[in-house]
Amino acid sequence: MFRSVLVANRGEIARRIFRTARRLGIETVAVCSDADLDAAHVREADRAVRIGPAPAAESYLSIPDLVAAALESGAEAVHPGYGFLSESAAFAEAVQAAGLIWVGPSPEAIRAMGLKDSARERMIAAGVPVTPGWQGDDGSEATLLAAARDLGWPVLIKAAAGGGGRGIRRVDAAADFSAALAACRREALAAFGDDRVLLERCIEAPRHIEVQVFGDAHGGLVHLFERDCTLQRRRQKVIEEAPAPGMTPEVREAVCAAALAAARAVDYVGAGTVEFIADAREGLRADRIWFMEMNTRLQVEHPVTEAVVGVDLVEWQFRVAAGEPLPLAQDQIVLNGWAVEARLCAEVPERGFIPSVGPLEHLRLPEGVRVDSGVEAGDEVGPHYDSLIAKLIAWAPTREGATEALAEACAGVETWPLKTNAAFLARCLDDPDFLAGRMDTGFIDARLDRLAAAPEPSPALASAAASALAALAAEGASAPSRDLAGFRLNAPPCETVRIWCDGQPLLADLAAGPEEADLLDAGEALILFENGSAFAFAASPPDREGGAAAAGDGAVSAPLPGKVVVVSVAEGARVRRGDILVVIEAMKMEHGLAAPFDGVVEGLSAAVGDQVREGEPLARVRGEAP
Ligand code: ADP
Ligand code: ADP
Ligand code: MG
Repeated sequence: MFRSVLVANRGEIARRIFRTARRLGIETVAVCSDADLDAAHVREADRAVRIGPAPAAESYLSIPDLVAAALESGAEAVHPGYGFLSESAAFAEAVQAAGLIWVGPSPEAIRAMGLKDSARERMIAAGVPVTPGWQGDDGSEATLLAAARDLGWPVLIKAAAGGGGRGIRRVDAAADFSAALAACRREALAAFGDDRVLLERCIEAPRHIEVQVFGDAHGGLVHLFERDCTLQRRRQKVIEEAPAPGMTPEVREAVCAAALAAARAVDYVGAGTVEFIADAREGLRADRIWFMEMNTRLQVEHPVTEAVVGVDLVEWQFRVAAGEPLPLAQDQIVLNGWAVEARLCAEVPERGFIPSVGPLEHLRLPEGVRVDSGVEAGDEVGPHYDSLIAKLIAWAPTREGATEALAEACAGVETWPLKTNAAFLARCLDDPDFLAGRMDTGFIDARLDRLAAAPEPSPALASAAASALAALAAEGASAPSRDLAGFRLNAPPCETVRIWCDGQPLLADLAAGPEEADLLDAGEALILFENGSAFAFAASPPDREGGAAAAGDGAVSAPLPGKVVVVSVAEGARVRRGDILVVIEAMKMEHGLAAPFDGVVEGLSAAVGDQVREGEPLARVRGEAP
């Protein structure tokens, strides 16, 4: 085994890889950009090397700088994590050419699976069932349209070089094909520098099922069963689990055999995932599950497999990279229980999942479940990289048990002032259809209004806040005002007071609230946590002049630095609350900025291509008097 490893990555995955390295006595080397000089992954590594400025292109994506860092630090091996350069054959080659051990598959295997169109051809030749589609030398629009007609509507247009759900467009009729093709090419060129596309039949109401595979350099190849990653938003995974609900021995046998055939066709060595799409309208069936793509790296959701199979996949990666054979044979790999993972992201679901950036003055992550986190209390989440800050993974003997434990864990997340999707995750996990395993990839969209609704404090929490504010008032702060509107007949005698929650007035009983309410005194406000959300309570209305929390003024501003990619309204346009006015690209995603209420657009200053600063005003919605 090598004695030191450099992880060419950041955040939770760098820390997760370090954890295994430390356990195995392997020295850890971190890399960082200027934005991460004091990041958690840097603090905990044995050594750290600064590689460049904050933009990923000049740091975490810079092959020469990363290879130089590895040589300079004396690391013997390089682990790429996921994202960034993890699927770059050129990086794998550069690492090997420098005489270092590459913890990943061969450059040839990465290349063979890297482009979706050539991967499809390779898989068809290997006899793997592939989603019906069209790939070829990227033809004219007429060729593509004819191919789409042959496949039958709806079809998906995908970027050949795509990943992370980007570029994919669904087309339901020939009339929409041209615009969708242009949009796919635009996004593909911007994100991957390659605008070639392929077509696939759009499987209706599908489930995403994937199989973890592992090969070694001695011809060994095993699978570690399937994961279900059906709960997605914008074609990105949100909640994943292993095994897949409703899986039968026959379908498992078929899909795992297909995954092994796919891996074998490219002489796969290391950890990989073969992704399939399943038409599960009549349950999972062996003849209705097709290859989509292979990810030639460790997957974000690998912990659910670790939990049900009882192995450490990063340890396996190290051993295989060091030339050892696979630790277990196929018949020694057995499923035990159920595991579910939720991706905790710094984002605001009730505002169109806009990313949240800033300090984590307060952070409490749950206990009793596995937590793979990229941050600690006191850290700051910046605008440069993606919004995933932690993963929560629960295991139990049954799916019901694991889901319940994970829902509780998500509800227990506390962050301030940074916001997360914890409440949204808890609601997904509490959904009766999810609990019954009735889901397809449209699950979240179909329930978005409920799942992403703005959280509201319970009466008990408001009551606790009112009591605490009153106690503070006794010490000299401003007191909650009495309000006779709260008087109720036949109610036990209690005083009702008016307080403010996140800037909105609220009536609360001045009875003792829950004793153990977690209070955080943030200047003027008291912060209380409930069901994954933070609520800022105050005894007096917010100071509008100060501009704090003034969502009521109709301003639509850039929530973080980024680039304007779409302006969908004109000056003077009449809009409804929630209509998308401007789309900006930041943190590896496109974000729609919505109208805060019904009204008329004024002062529209955003133009496509503009680079915008955080907080920069882009437009204003003037409300109409009722
Ligand atoms: P995986 O296939 O391993 O589950 P995904 O396909 O979900 O990973 O994501 C692909 C890459 O996109 C990941 O390597 C990750 O770095 C990045 N990513 C994941 N989630 C987000 C997100 N919410 N925003 C931006 N990037 C993301
Ligand atoms: P990426 O490389 O961006 O991850 P994938 O090909 O893996 O692209 O597809 C991402 C997601 O898009 C899938 O998880 C699935 O939800 C959806 N999807 C992809 N192909 C199809 C298809 N043929 N029919 C229906 N949904 C699909
Ligand atoms: Mg995929």
